Amino acid sequence: MKEFVISEAQTEKAILVALITQTQDERTTYEYLDELAFLAETAGAEVVCSFTQRLDAANSVTFVGKGKLQEIKEYITENEIGMVIFDDELSGKQLRNIETELQVLVLDRTSLILDIFAKRAQTANAKTQVELAQFRYMLPRLTRLWTHLERQRGGIGMRGPGETQLETDRRIILNRISLLKQQLIDIDKQKTTQRKNRGNMIRVALVGYTNVGKSTLMNLISKSEVFAENKLFATLDTTVRKVIIDNLPFLLTDTVGFIRKLPTDLVDSFKSTLDEVREADLLLHIVDISHPGFEEQIKVVEKTLSEIGGGGKPCILVFNKIDAYTYIQKAEDDLTPKTKENITLDELMKTWMAKLNDNCIFISALEKQNIEELKTVMYNKVKEMHVQRFPYNDFLYQVYDETEE
Ligand code: GDP
Ligand code: MG
Repeated sequence: MKEFVISEAQTEKAILVALITQTQDERTTYEYLDELAFLAETAGAEVVCSFTQRLDAANSVTFVGKGKLQEIKEYITENEIGMVIFDDELSGKQLRNIETELQVLVLDRTSLILDIFAKRAQTANAKTQVELAQFRYMLPRLTRLWTHLERQRGGIGMRGPGETQLETDRRIILNRISLLKQQLIDIDKQKTTQRKNRGNMIRVALVGYTNVGKSTLMNLISKSEVFAENKLFATLDTTVRKVIIDNLPFLLTDTVGFIRKLPTDLVDSFKSTLDEVREADLLLHIVDISHPGFEEQIKVVEKTLSEIGGGGKPCILVFNKIDAYTYIQKAEDDLTPKTKENITLDELMKTWMAKLNDNCIFISALEKQNIEELKTVMYNKVKEMHVQRFPYNDFLYQVYDETEE
């Protein structure tokens, strides 16, 4: 097995690789690359440039074509690049071939996301879930050259499940997986009991794509201090807070954001986190309206929700970041049809309100615009559910009880 050393400085410089295919046009590819760059930066890398290639489908041996791989190799050598990140999940075979050829650290979107998750995990529950996901990712890729990874302990992609990363023995990993699964079952039991003890309250979950402002809104509504920042997956653990609007108490949960191209069996590892979503009575689906790809993000979230068994729940669409919404005003003599860049916020609001039967609201969590209106919408919806669910339970009485304590 070949061995090579990558210096600390080099590991931080990264390049990105993505394909333009029949099912993924150029514009979409560049949008994905923007997101991948954001992910890489979140993980602590410096993205230097990106490579794209037009192919009918990914090459099963090296993902990109031979010539492209050579081009990437030359660039890596000239610019001292320490890491190459592919936007799509690589098979064990592709990973091995590319690593052998490029002699640098090779990551894909999934392993990059897992690395961020590993850094963000705070509780035992989150850590166990991430570790399980990492092993599941590793298992079909065991033939990979792990030796060079050991040399860069602490770098991106390295925060694997510790020393066992070197033990490429399938049996050990399988044992570990079943152990982790058992640990998660135990944690699950505790969590289920915790949830049962929460009493007669309607549960509302904030869901949405990553970085749309869920935690910011959570802090605003519940006056809690959930970590929010301009990074992907700032919050990995779910936070539950009791919120009272006009004497009506309910539970509000902040959840991990969704992202495209996250394999379902990985999502599965985060079961206990996602239970909060599954068991919620009402979902607030937060959308970043200032993001050019917000419509696709809505679709990704809806698809993920139905995959984890949280589809079909009552849902209010909350369009956030209206303060940052921009559009390109068309010249008066420009008679070409409007594209989505030329639509004003007003027009957009009207279209969505008509489409969703007014089941949506437009806010800015940062600038605190329309928050009172949002609270009213939430109040009405939660009250309606509360009265249906707990007909003999007067919530006003409950609250007075608590203030007396
Ligand atoms: P989460 O990943 O969905 O929890 O998103 P966060 O709450 O962590 O917010 C992500 C980023 O978006 C942070 O930098 C926030 O300050 C920013 N943000 C949140 N709400 C708004 C808003 O209404 N307008 C603008 N311009 N930025 C916002
Ligand atoms: Mg968050």
